[in-house]
Amino acid sequence: MVKQKAGLNWEILNTAPAMTLNLLRYKAEEASSEFVEVPTKQIKPSQTCPDCGAKKKKSLAERWHSCKCGCEKPRDVASAQVNLNWALGVQAGNQPKKAA
Ligand SMILES: [Zn+2]
Repeated sequence: MVKQKAGLNWEILNTAPAMTLNLLRYKAEEASSEFVEVPTKQIKPSQTCPDCGAKKKKSLAERWHSCKCGCEKPRDVASAQVNLNWALGVQAGNQPKKAA
């Protein structure tokens, strides 16, 4: 049984992430596409630079990604690129790039 959660945790639980992943997996198979689940706890896409792989801790309120390498973009776009880079590395049979 799930303990009563409050605030953001409760909202995340309400989205039923496991069911959403199963639906995505099913739809990908139906479309003859490959489903790749990115280990976000391991690669931390919202705190990783998509261009150089540097890690930079950000608060949730920080919505802009800015890196020493010159990478400047919205945080969500940067996170999506980190996820895509990881997934493409897996699909190509490459070892996923480890962020520094
Ligand atoms: Zn960078």
